[in-house]
Amino acid sequence: MSLVRVSRFALSLLVFALMTSISGAYFWAREWKSGILWPEPPIVTPGDAATAPSDAIVLFDGKDLSAWSGGDQWIVADGIATVAKTSITSKQSFGDCQFHLEFATPAEVKGSGQGRGNSGIHFMGRYELQILDSFGNTTYFDGQCGSFYKTQPPSVNACRGPGEWQSYDVIFTAPRFKADGSLHTPAYATVLQNGVLIHNHLELKGTTAYTEAPSYTKHRDKEPISIQNHGNPVRFRNIWVRENIAPLTGQQLGGATEPPALPEDVR
Ligand code: MG
Repeated sequence: MSLVRVSRFALSLLVFALMTSISGAYFWAREWKSGILWPEPPIVTPGDAATAPSDAIVLFDGKDLSAWSGGDQWIVADGIATVAKTSITSKQSFGDCQFHLEFATPAEVKGSGQGRGNSGIHFMGRYELQILDSFGNTTYFDGQCGSFYKTQPPSVNACRGPGEWQSYDVIFTAPRFKADGSLHTPAYATVLQNGVLIHNHLELKGTTAYTEAPSYTKHRDKEPISIQNHGNPVRFRNIWVRENIAPLTGQQLGGATEPPALPEDVR
C-alpha cells in the first residue's frame, strides 16, 4: 500500500471518528417510554369568540338566564344580560372548574371607587373575584377589578375602559375539608383577564367579605356560582363552565424503559 493510500485511509478513519463522536449520541440513544397505558384524551371542539367549547356547561349564551336563580330579575336584550335588582345564583353547583365570562362596566361613568361598575363573581357563593371599573378609578388595591376581594390584588391592572368588553378565564380549585370541618387544602385560583395573567395559582384565604377577615367554614364539594348585584348596571355575555379538568390517569403496565448508558466519549 502506497504512502498516499495509507494517508487517505487514515484521513477516512479520522473523518469517521469525528462524525461518530458528533452523532454518537443519536446512534446510542434509545427512545424512553413510560410504560403507562394512557386513555385517549377526549376530543373537545374549541369555541370561538362567541361560543363555548363543546364540553362546556353554558350558563348564558345570550338567550336567557334560565340557568340562574334570580335571572328573571335581570335585563336580557340583544344577547346581553345586565345587572338589575338582585344577585343571581347558578342553579347548578360547581367545584373544581374552568370558568369563562365576559363583562363590560357601564360606558357612562358614574360614581367613584367601589361605586363605579361594581359587580363580582362569587365562586362557590363565597370567594369573590371582583368586577369593577378600575380604568383610571382608584380604590384600595385588594378591592380593584381582578382582585380576590380583600385577599389579593391582581398582579397587574389589565382592565379595558368603561363600556368595553372584557373577559375572565379562571381555573378554580375548590377547597377540601376534613370530616371534623377543618380545612384540608385551601382553594386556589388562576385568572386571566383579557388574556393577561393576573393570578397564578393563588391560594385563597377563605370567604371574601366586606366586614370580616377571610376564613374557611366547611361547605359542600360543589356550590353554586353567583354574580353580584352591587347597584351598577354591569353587562355580561358568554358565560360557561367546564368541569372535566382533572388530569388523565393512566395505568402503569410495566417498568419504564430506560435509555442505555452512553459511553463517556459521546455524552
Ligand atoms: Mg363586587
